[in-house]
Amino acid sequence: MRGALGGPRVLLRRLREVMAEPVSAQERLDKIVVLIAANMVAEVCSVYVLRVDGTLELYATEGLNRQAVHLTVMRSDEGLVGLVATEASPINLNDAQAHPAFSYRPETGEEIYRSFLGVPILRAGNTLGVLVVQNRARRTYSEEEVEALQTTAMVLAEMIASGELTSLAQPGAEPAVRRPVHVSGAALTDAIALGHVVLHEPRVVITNFIADDVQKELRRLGVAIETLRAELDLMLESGEVAEGGEHRDVLEAYRMFAHDRGWVHKLEEAVLTGLTAEAAVERVQSDTRARMLRQTDPYLRERLHDFDDLAHRLQRQLLGYDHAPTRDRLPEHAIIVARSMGPAALLDYDRNRLRGLVLEEGGPNSHVAIVARALGIAAVGEVPNATGLADPGDAVIVDGVTGDVHIRPTPDMEAAYVERVRLRARRQLQYLSLRDRPAVTKDGQPVTLMINAGLPIDLPHLAETGAVGIGLFRTELQFMVAAQFPRTSEQLALYRNVLDAAGGKPVVFRTLDIGGDKVLPYMRNYEEENPALGWRAIRLGLDRPGLLRSQVRAMLRAASGRELRIMFPMIAAVHEFDEAKGLVERELTHLRRHGHRLPERVEVGTMLEVPALLFQLDELLERVDFLSVGSNDLLQFLFAADRGNARVANRFDPLSVPVLRVLKLIVDRANAHGKSVTLCGELASKPIGALALIAIGFRAFSLLPSAVGPVKAMLLDLDAGKVERLVAALMALPLGSASVRAKLTAFAEAEGLSL
Ligand code: PEP
Ligand code: MG
Repeated sequence: MRGALGGPRVLLRRLREVMAEPVSAQERLDKIVVLIAANMVAEVCSVYVLRVDGTLELYATEGLNRQAVHLTVMRSDEGLVGLVATEASPINLNDAQAHPAFSYRPETGEEIYRSFLGVPILRAGNTLGVLVVQNRARRTYSEEEVEALQTTAMVLAEMIASGELTSLAQPGAEPAVRRPVHVSGAALTDAIALGHVVLHEPRVVITNFIADDVQKELRRLGVAIETLRAELDLMLESGEVAEGGEHRDVLEAYRMFAHDRGWVHKLEEAVLTGLTAEAAVERVQSDTRARMLRQTDPYLRERLHDFDDLAHRLQRQLLGYDHAPTRDRLPEHAIIVARSMGPAALLDYDRNRLRGLVLEEGGPNSHVAIVARALGIAAVGEVPNATGLADPGDAVIVDGVTGDVHIRPTPDMEAAYVERVRLRARRQLQYLSLRDRPAVTKDGQPVTLMINAGLPIDLPHLAETGAVGIGLFRTELQFMVAAQFPRTSEQLALYRNVLDAAGGKPVVFRTLDIGGDKVLPYMRNYEEENPALGWRAIRLGLDRPGLLRSQVRAMLRAASGRELRIMFPMIAAVHEFDEAKGLVERELTHLRRHGHRLPERVEVGTMLEVPALLFQLDELLERVDFLSVGSNDLLQFLFAADRGNARVANRFDPLSVPVLRVLKLIVDRANAHGKSVTLCGELASKPIGALALIAIGFRAFSLLPSAVGPVKAMLLDLDAGKVERLVAALMALPLGSASVRAKLTAFAEAEGLSL
């Protein structure tokens, strides 16, 4: 290697000795820069550390003016050093002064150096600092030298991450590795939690970075890669992965990467600089992460996860152990941080200690978000690089209401949140005191408040909230959290359990609403261009009646001797309702014939989620026993705006005259037919939404359990007649001349209603 004395391996070995010496942090750094400069035949070697305030501080130098150490501080977008930090990639120049980003600090005396090689000090893809070598003469550093300096930077990254340098810092200017980080994502639950990070997939901890025998490390790497490839082949051939399934595509991609010559070559190069095989994997992965995190192309960013996974698998091969998550050894107030997670994995954690969840993937409609809501934990999804930013044990605040996540929060932030949590707890106590009060408006109008549920963990909410029943039991949730199709006996057991827990309060069981965004991993999925408009819910149920029949049978048997309410999702035409109801009747006949005890009474109703039903309301209402408006879907179809797409989420206001006209039409027709009508979409779960709905005549809601208290508190103080008159007047005005939301907010304020 041209220029380097003894090569990178000698340097690494010497560094290892220095790392083990019982000297102060500053002395160690000083020795390191001397070693690097000598080894690379450079006149200058400097270490810049990224500080919590985002600036870069000179921590050690050989060659530049030593007086500048801890005095020279640069913005992270200043000069070449700043460029290395922000780009998180090496800069190699034989005429640094000609570079447009060049800027020099007179106190360092660096104006005489022409050549510059700077590499980022990276850990898990995050920049912690910059390592620089410089020479007076114009010189192009070789590829091997760049590689060697990157390897050396890795040792420095560990030193910074260990916290050893913190003692050298001014208060408020500590190394950024421990800096408070604020990131935002999708708010998934109505809860806030303070706790400590537990990584769902713990990072591999490397204790041995520096190779004793490079040839041996190369062999270890070779064997591990071969085993990894064989493992992937086996998984693909085992038939466990469905043909054409998403899982299979991922594995195919892994196999392609595992055979990628470029990747393997990079790993070997890193070992050749003197790293152990596992440290080489870490280094290459850190570079890849850093590069990919700067990509804006979502497809490429997605591939980062594949590379991460592959690197993890390889490290597991090398270190010979599995990183089973610490599910049963969870610390108190645990906040799980994961890239992605299935609902079953979340349920595996000890619920008494679990407080929150932060996910890199996982939108509001993901299955894991549904479970997180049922568990009542704070959860935020779609947080980029969460697993790279948080270290195990870090303090973290998860605000599931706003979508904010504060990792290593400042004391001020923590105090503010402690206060907020205390306030919320106080409010919860107030709601609790309302639990047994009937939900009747100030002017004597009773309102039925029920809850939405779907999992056994939801059942205690019934008693906790004082709700009068379950207005929507989403049976698909049991199917979504299961690893395989729940057998009829398992369905029967759940439904029986639900009816037992309800203790005579009404429960509306909705038949399977799968398809669309609700996919079952074990069921064959058909590629559909518009799954929300596709083969889902009752459509699937009627086309594959075996599934629906066995579910209906389980419901009928579970309700033997009791009342049963069955509801169908996504009915779009009256004849679909007729067919589905016919199926229920046939099952009843079947059970009767086989001597089963039947339910005392069976009511059959439908969700109203598809706008086409608005033009068949009278025919529909003649047939159904009850109606439940699914405003989540109804609004998405009315406005042709995907309910899960944040970009269109605020485009149309549900509290606007057109929406209220539609909803009022439904409630008026249902009343005229003497049929009960409930609204079970999330519109009713916000007090202002419930206020608007009461104003147009709704008197029954099925809510998120956490919404029962706030909605009840609002309506107890409400003069329903007054808000009815207000909204009727607004609806009589020409469209667009008044904002219903603004008027309702002002009304609530004037009336002392808490929204
Ligand atoms: C709805 O569409 O409003 C509804 C309650 O059903 P889901 O949210 O399960 O689609
Ligand atoms: Mg729906």
